[in-house]
Amino acid sequence: MTPSIEVFQDEPIFESSLKTSVVAEISSSSSSSKDQLARELINRALVNHISGIDHEECEAGDEDSFFVCDLGEVYRSFGVWQQKLPQVQPHYAVKCNTNLEVIKLLASLGVNFDCASKNEIDTILNLGISPDRIVYANPCKTNSFIRHASKANVNLTTVDNAQELHKLKKFHPDCGILIRLATDDETAQCRLSTKFGCTLSAAINELLPLAKELGLNVRGVAFHVGSGAKDFDSIYKAIRDSRDVFNRAITEYGFEMSILDIGGGFELETFDESSSMVCSSLNKFFPADFVSQNGIKFIAEPGRFMVSNAFTLAAHIIARRDLDLKATFVSEEDKQVSAMVYINDGVYGNMNCILFDHQNPQAHVLQHKNKFFYHQDEESDDQKLIDDDAKGEHHFSIWGPTCDGLDCVASKCTLSHDVEVGDWLYFPNLGAYTSAATTAFNGLGGNSHIIYVCSEDL
Ligand SMILES: *Cc1c(COP(=O)(O)O)cnc(C)c1O
Repeated sequence: MTPSIEVFQDEPIFESSLKTSVVAEISSSSSSSKDQLARELINRALVNHISGIDHEECEAGDEDSFFVCDLGEVYRSFGVWQQKLPQVQPHYAVKCNTNLEVIKLLASLGVNFDCASKNEIDTILNLGISPDRIVYANPCKTNSFIRHASKANVNLTTVDNAQELHKLKKFHPDCGILIRLATDDETAQCRLSTKFGCTLSAAINELLPLAKELGLNVRGVAFHVGSGAKDFDSIYKAIRDSRDVFNRAITEYGFEMSILDIGGGFELETFDESSSMVCSSLNKFFPADFVSQNGIKFIAEPGRFMVSNAFTLAAHIIARRDLDLKATFVSEEDKQVSAMVYINDGVYGNMNCILFDHQNPQAHVLQHKNKFFYHQDEESDDQKLIDDDAKGEHHFSIWGPTCDGLDCVASKCTLSHDVEVGDWLYFPNLGAYTSAATTAFNGLGGNSHIIYVCSEDL
C-alpha cells in the first residue's frame, strides 16, 4: 500500500455497493434505523481500512491514524437546525472543520458561511460559492484581508472597536457592518468576551455615532455567546441588548438595520434548550411586526453543531509501558492505571481539541487480537459475551506520539480489553476543532486520511 495515494482525497469515495448491501441487510432485519445503518457503514469502513494493514510488515505511515466521516450526520444535524430554528439562516463557521466535502454538502443544503481570514474566504469562493453567502465574522481584521474582501465582494463583517471602523472607511467603505456585542459568558467553556465584543454602551455611544460620521453602512448586530455554555440566559441578555442597539441605530442614526447574527456555540446535546431560548427571546425582543417593518433577517454561525458527531478517529497503539505499581516513581495518579498506552495521534495532532477546546475524547477499543469491537461496549451484555471472552475493565493512561509530556490524551481511562501494541482504538465525535488545527511537531502529523460514508441518500 502506498500512502501517497491514500492521503487526502479530493472526492469522497463512497463505496456505493457496500452501502447498498448494508441497506439491504438492515432493512431486512427487524430493528431497522438510521443509527444502525450509520454504525454499520462506519464499522465496515474502519474494518476495511485496518484489515489491509499489517503493522509488522507495512510501509512507514500506513498505520497512521485516520478518520471515517459520515456525511449523513452533517445532513441530519442540519435537519435538526431546520426543525428547531427555521427562522435563523445558519452560516457554518469554517474554522471548526475546513473539510471540503462537509463545506460542499452544507452549501448544497443552503447553509452559508462564516469566514475569519483570507484563506477561509478563498476556500469558500474557490468552490464557486457566491461571496454574498459569506459573513467575514472577525472583528479584528488584517488591513490587506479587508482589501481582499472588498475585491472579492465579501460585503458583510463584524466590528467591535473604533479603529476597525476607520480601517473599513479606508479599505472597504461600502461593507455592511454588524456591531459585535460582548456577551455575559461566565458559564461558557470557551470564553470569548474576554477577547471580542464591545459593551452595549460603547456600541451606542461610541461606535454608532462614529460610523455615522464616517458614512459607514451599519446593518445590524452580532454576538457569540461562546461554546460549551450551560446557561442560556446569556442568549436572552444578548438578544435583549441587540434590540437596544437596533432601536438607537434606527431612530437616532437612520441606519437600515436588517441583520441580527446570534453567533455559534450551539451543541446538539443541548439544542432543545438553547434553541428554545433563542425562539422565546426573539419573539420577545424581535416581534413579528418589528421584524417585517425593518425587513430583519436572523442569521447564526454554528460550527461544532454541524460536524462534531460526523467524524470518528481511529488510532493505532504503537507502544505500551506496563507499570510496576510498587515502584516508588509511579505517581499516585498512575497507580490507578495498569499501563501507559502510546498511540499515533495526540494533542499536537487531531486531538488538539483537548488543549484548545476543552474536549475530552472518549477512547474505545476498535481492534484487539484481530477481533473488531466497534460500538460493542455499548451493546447488550449478551452480545459482549458472545464476542469476547476476555472482556473486562482495564485501566490505562493514553499518550500521544510526540516527545512532549503535555501530549496526554487521557490520564485515566477504562477500556474493555487489555490492549497491546498493534491494536487500534477509536474516538467518536471528533469532527469539531480537530483536523483544523493539527501541527507537524516532531515530524508527525499532516493531513489525515479520511474515508467517507453516507448514511443518508444525498
Ligand atoms: C468559533 C466561532 C463560531 C463557531 O463556534 P462553535 O462553538 O463551533 O459553534 C461562531 N462565531 C464566531 C465569531 C466564532 O469565533
